[in-house]
Amino acid sequence: MPRPTCSRCQRPLSHCLCPLIPDLDSRTRLLILQHPSEVGHALNTARLAVLGLRNAELRVGEVFDDLPQLLAQPGYRACLLFPDDEAVALSAYAPDEKPLLLVVPDGTWRKARKLLHLNPSLAALPRVSLGAVAPSRYRLRKAPEEGALSTIEAIVTALDMLEAPQGFEALLRPFDALIEGQIAAMGEEVFIRNHRR
Ligand SMILES: [Zn+2]
Repeated sequence: MPRPTCSRCQRPLSHCLCPLIPDLDSRTRLLILQHPSEVGHALNTARLAVLGLRNAELRVGEVFDDLPQLLAQPGYRACLLFPDDEAVALSAYAPDEKPLLLVVPDGTWRKARKLLHLNPSLAALPRVSLGAVAPSRYRLRKAPEEGALSTIEAIVTALDMLEAPQGFEALLRPFDALIEGQIAAMGEEVFIRNHRR
């Protein structure tokens, strides 16, 4: 029989992360596009991020037919978090600026590029990047590229930049607990052998 899971955070009930998930408001609206292959991953950080943010939505799929409508949210400027050569580094809002609808592809950069290829309205968005950021604490999953962050870390970094002095660090609490739990489960020794560079 499968272990009972929490219907909200989808962790086993014995390891429910909900008490650690904050309830944060943001000017920026987040739209996270998740490839179906990421849904069942034990470290589904996009889901944790959306649970902790009021102004955020998670969509799962490869081709998003209603994307043009999703991107045309009144009162927002849509842009895509995608660090290629065209991307402009995010900085804090000027007082008179409209807030961003920040579209974040979840998964590897390879999957993100595929999403762009399959969804022309996504590829047409102006692109933004996080600039130089601190290394990931997401030690369990090999970062495909130098400086790659987990989705939840990328979101916290972006919101911290845009909405300073408000901070979004609390969003990482369930993520940190999840990582600690994974490390404990695999054994510290194995972890150090496999993951420390
Ligand atoms: Zn839960």
